[in-house]
Amino acid sequence: MTELQIICEKVDALIDSLGGYWSKEWLLQPVIEELGEFSKELQIDAGLHPGKSTTKEKLEEEFGDLFFAVIALGRGLEIDIEKALMQTLRKYQTRRK
Ligand SMILES: [Mg+2]
Repeated sequence: MTELQIICEKVDALIDSLGGYWSKEWLLQPVIEELGEFSKELQIDAGLHPGKSTTKEKLEEEFGDLFFAVIALGRGLEIDIEKALMQTLRKYQTRRK
């Protein structure tokens, strides 16, 4: 089993402990929310919000939240995340040739 598959199973277990995956029409909402939170930290880090500051740890925390939400979206839609990611890697590798 790959590290990504192990992570996906951990996400499944956590979601199960929270009552299971949401219905498909709601799975994208956490991704949008977490993308917004990550985007805000990134803007703060870039100096676009004078007077506010962030940390590498906060950026990593929000990236983790976003990554978790994306994995949960894929798992909730029964997408083979590893297969999908490998297809994308091959697509970009092919484009560069
Ligand atoms: Mg967050």
